[in-house]
Amino acid sequence: MKDHREPQTTPTLGENVSEAPYFIDLETAIKIACKTPLKLESETVPLDDAHMRVLSEDLASKVDDPPFDNSAMDGFAFIHEDSLDPPQTLTIVQTVQAGDANVATPISNTEATRIMTGAPMPPGATSILPIERCEINEDGTEVKLFEKGRPHFIRKQGENLTRDQVALGKGATLTPAKIGLCATMGWAKVPVFKRAKVAIISTGDELKFPGEELEPHQIYESNSFGLAGLVEWMGHEAVRYPAVADSMESLRHTLNKAGEACDLILTSGGVSMGEWDYVRKIMEEEGDVHFWRVKIRPGSPPLFGTWNTTPIFGLPGNPASSHVVFRMLVAPYLRASSAGGGPKETRLRVKLADPLKGDEKCLALRRIHIVTTGEFPLAYSTGPQGSGNLNSVAKADGLTLLHPGQSSNKGDWCDAIFL
Ligand code: AMP
Ligand code: MG
Repeated sequence: MKDHREPQTTPTLGENVSEAPYFIDLETAIKIACKTPLKLESETVPLDDAHMRVLSEDLASKVDDPPFDNSAMDGFAFIHEDSLDPPQTLTIVQTVQAGDANVATPISNTEATRIMTGAPMPPGATSILPIERCEINEDGTEVKLFEKGRPHFIRKQGENLTRDQVALGKGATLTPAKIGLCATMGWAKVPVFKRAKVAIISTGDELKFPGEELEPHQIYESNSFGLAGLVEWMGHEAVRYPAVADSMESLRHTLNKAGEACDLILTSGGVSMGEWDYVRKIMEEEGDVHFWRVKIRPGSPPLFGTWNTTPIFGLPGNPASSHVVFRMLVAPYLRASSAGGGPKETRLRVKLADPLKGDEKCLALRRIHIVTTGEFPLAYSTGPQGSGNLNSVAKADGLTLLHPGQSSNKGDWCDAIFL
């Protein structure tokens, strides 16, 4: 039988565990885990392969952006003073298009250059008027300006970025805009952290592969699939192992294999205080436990340590718990291992539209649906909040951060994160 009551003192389950910090708050748990970060090497990849990867070095621009003064509009370029008394007529002396290799002829007073967006400014020109505010005569030799010119339609060399400026720092996650910026800065390949290989090992005699015939005592194994999704979402490579039976031998065998093949191990299940909780047992006896149990609900059982030299998180088996613990504990660890890169955690204040259960000792992470279309964000419960109810996570787009003892009635405000 598993003991689901709150133990009042550190249980003496084994030497390693009793020495390790026990039932600690989330921030402390993250700090302890981050003392054993992943050592991710760097690799250089073409921009096409760099989407959502994390820069492993600062990236300085190889050029000024823009590299030369150019027009922000299709229209005419001229000396600004020639447009101060509209309508004014100027002589068209040339046309310049974006990509013209020839340097335009310098222009003098009463002259105008027909110019396209992105074309280099002709020397001497100090203003632009968009084509909609101009009229060209029939033979195309003159232009009448109906308004004063707009000097701000000249995009000045280096106004966005200057050469050698570090526009993207180590740890930047290469979103589509940032990928584009790499190209703007002249980088065709970029240095990024290698993706970590993350082993995912579900444990439990009751687990069956989805879709197979279930016997009455069995359930479908779901955690490894959800955790694999979370690992990939964080930008790393998930290596899912077949579910392991509750025995020291099979667990030892799989942990050894996973430790050799992967940078990080995530187990699910078997980490509580029960007789059949073999992850906890094997880590006590043969691994190195750095902490066990965290003051969060759901998901208080997690363990962190090393198996030989490989960092390992023992996540709870309850499906809602394993998901929540990944988001709150494993995700910050992975971010810290790659200079803060990866999908960010977005926090906000929400007003509870349903009452939710808080906790006296633990940070309560209730699954919520957040409606942001009103005057302020409203948080609705996604239904029964049992730690086995994965549906409550599937429906959620947020988690409450109800601090220990915090009131959580309808109408109360609390911190939350977006999922
Ligand atoms: P445990 O942490 O091993 O005590 O498991 C807690 C609960 O989660 C039990 O009801 C298990 O049957 C269930 N569980 C454990 N592992 C998984 C898994 N991989 N997929 C779905 N449910 C699981
Ligand atoms: Mg189990």
